[in-house]
Amino acid sequence: MSVFDHAEFDNHESLHYFFDEKSGLRAIVAVHSTALGPAAGGTRRWVYLNEADALTDVLRLSRGMTYKNAVAGLKLGGGKAVILASHEAPKSPELFRHFGRCVDSLGGRYITAEDVGCSVDDMRYVHEETEFVSGLPQSGNDAGGDPSPWTALGCLQGIEAAVEEQLGKDSLQGIRVAVQGVGHVGLHLCRLLHAAGAELYIADVNNDNLKMAQAEVPATIVAPSELLFTDVDVLAPCALGNILTSMTIPKIRAKIVAGAANNQLSTPADGARLAERGILYAPDYVINAGGIISVAAEYYGDASEDDVRADVGRIKDRLRKIFRDAKETGRPTHELADELARSVVAAARQ
Ligand code: NAD
Repeated sequence: MSVFDHAEFDNHESLHYFFDEKSGLRAIVAVHSTALGPAAGGTRRWVYLNEADALTDVLRLSRGMTYKNAVAGLKLGGGKAVILASHEAPKSPELFRHFGRCVDSLGGRYITAEDVGCSVDDMRYVHEETEFVSGLPQSGNDAGGDPSPWTALGCLQGIEAAVEEQLGKDSLQGIRVAVQGVGHVGLHLCRLLHAAGAELYIADVNNDNLKMAQAEVPATIVAPSELLFTDVDVLAPCALGNILTSMTIPKIRAKIVAGAANNQLSTPADGARLAERGILYAPDYVINAGGIISVAAEYYGDASEDDVRADVGRIKDRLRKIFRDAKETGRPTHELADELARSVVAAARQ
């Protein structure tokens, strides 16, 4: 499996493979860039079809973190970790402790936190072995803890900006939103959308999560295979990436795609496809930066919860500018966001 010639390699600074026979841990940590600071990005624990898929995922996710942290104005580079889940390597305190030792061995080049398949509790075990972890339980008014409510808040405000721009409405009252995945972020987002008066359509492949969401917010349940194509105003992807493709985009009926999932576009050409169809796309790593803003504040210990709230609030204006520039230049929103991210990183390198 070639790494240097991999389609997603994109000049990664380093790539680290870890194995532990006792816990069964198999993990890859990718450090895309440390130009702006230590590479930061969560740990995803997922069942991958094979190692090649895990490598592709971690490379794409870590580059996305470089872009996300740059556009959010954080003193952090981009990195990500994946743990290859399997029956031989079930979740266990020892697995996360060993992973903590792996992260520690990188000496602070990489800071981890929770992502899909990991929880605050898992990060507590990681923290027993390393200081280079965030997203831990906090007390009082300190910033930090589970980042997903902050991600959801940024997404809600991003959806408001998109609805303003695309539908000319300054409220979410009666706006129909389809939420794909009601896990950590998706469920919080549903609560916020419901409170704002939106009408919800939800899908999840995990029935327990679906039931939990249904018990809390009124929502129409949609089959996971149909959710992307539901007749709604806004599609909010909050599950996994690679969902906006040449196959799915022609069938999307929403006028806006704005949600938390990382790497929603399968390829850059899919961003152009959305624009050609007149669908306004909120670049994923711009709208979903709320969580890393909280993680950064916790890690550096230099901000209160109010500071985090104010910083997350800036996501809306960032998106408004991207939407406006896209309209004026006729260029797709993802291209403008990528350009901005790359210019911030290039300036830091100089
Ligand atoms: P999660 O694991 O808690 O939730 C994901 C949910 O999506 C689960 O309930 C899962 O069953 C469901 N799902 C998976 N495939 C699905 C499908 N095909 N159709 C419908 N549902 C499906 O993860 P999360 O922390 O809520 O993160 C969700 C997404 O947001 C991920 O892409 C993650 O990388 C991204 N993200 C999360 C954060 C954060 O703060 N947690 C921050 C930025 C980005």
